[in-house]
Amino acid sequence: MPLEQPPLSLYIHIPWCLRKCPYCDFNSHEARGDVPESAYVDALVADFEASLPSVWGRRLQTIFIGGGTPSLFTPQAIDRLLTAVRTRIPVDPAAEITLEANPGTFEMERFRGYREAGVNRLSVGVQSFEDRALAAIGRVHGAGEARRALAAACAIFPRVNADLMYALPGQDMAHAIADVREAIALGVTHLSAYHLTLEPDTHFHRFPPQLPDDDAAADMQEGIEAALAAAGFGHYETSAFARPGERARHNVNYWTFGDYIGIGAGAHGKLTFSDRIVRERRARKPATYMQLANAGKAIDESHAVAAADLPFEFMLNALRLVDGFELALFTRRTGLAFAAIEQPLAAAQAQGLVERDHVAVRPTRKGQRFLNDLLALFLPASAAPPRRTIPLSISPTDTPRP
Ligand code: SF4
Repeated sequence: MPLEQPPLSLYIHIPWCLRKCPYCDFNSHEARGDVPESAYVDALVADFEASLPSVWGRRLQTIFIGGGTPSLFTPQAIDRLLTAVRTRIPVDPAAEITLEANPGTFEMERFRGYREAGVNRLSVGVQSFEDRALAAIGRVHGAGEARRALAAACAIFPRVNADLMYALPGQDMAHAIADVREAIALGVTHLSAYHLTLEPDTHFHRFPPQLPDDDAAADMQEGIEAALAAAGFGHYETSAFARPGERARHNVNYWTFGDYIGIGAGAHGKLTFSDRIVRERRARKPATYMQLANAGKAIDESHAVAAADLPFEFMLNALRLVDGFELALFTRRTGLAFAAIEQPLAAAQAQGLVERDHVAVRPTRKGQRFLNDLLALFLPASAAPPRRTIPLSISPTDTPRP
């Protein structure tokens, strides 16, 4: 059956940070001196222009400027970027436009400038409000800066997310919950709580810090969920909590297997055509990316997803949603009949990892906790088990984070 086109998002990757955090496996690079802001925006615009023929006639529902640390870029650069996007493709008048900011780059005027440029949702990388914990995970900011940045964000933007991390070195339950309560008190509309994990190719993987054990981390997760529920935040995805109506529409599009263009160094894209679903990836190194993007050749890898891989790819996203998904969505997004997942779904149900009826499938509490085991049931027979567990962060780069 011909595939229908799902909602379309745009992810824009800014690949620089003040300093590389020891747990981070994103495509982020330490900014040595000034970042080449203007040249990079030129490259992004050239890249976007080259991708337009693939999305002709479509409209953007959401834009997410992630990184790295996009708040290293001036409001003028973000304005030029968003204006360039708007003049090249229709953007829904109610589009969610998110920018990631770090407290270490916080300035009130900068936040106001982003808002004036059209950003209507700010996502602040707080991680913790405890100086000792922030130092232990190598963050460049302290608790005072985190508080000031989040308070300013909540005063300027109608919608604000705080990223927090738990199971940090030396952290206990009381501190983890205090972090969550403080973010709520400052006025966030959305909160993402990520379990610190030691990812391959990171400093922490080579030199692991002493972390709370799995049981302590699971207790913290439950405590965080309870504190957020008591404050009126719904838990709707593995790591995401929102006040009513405040879910991150950009990320929900990833999790419901929607489409996205991904521009910027190392960004990933996924696009649906009537007969295939294509994944593409841009060159990873910023200098190489800029050179190739300016020549209209930023994509260094592109392939049609094999039908055998689609069930796993769909589940990798949809089973992160606490409410799961409707079976009809699986067919609409992948073009495959229900028969393609009948067996693994029955196995997941027998193991108590999902519950289902004729309309919908949702992960049980056990399925949420052992998401990797659940996902492994949908791998094609020849595939190796997934390397990673639950991604540390969204973004578009792993998560759904492109
Ligand atoms: S965790 Fe965030 S701020 Fe730290 S290096 Fe990675 S992208 Fe940059």
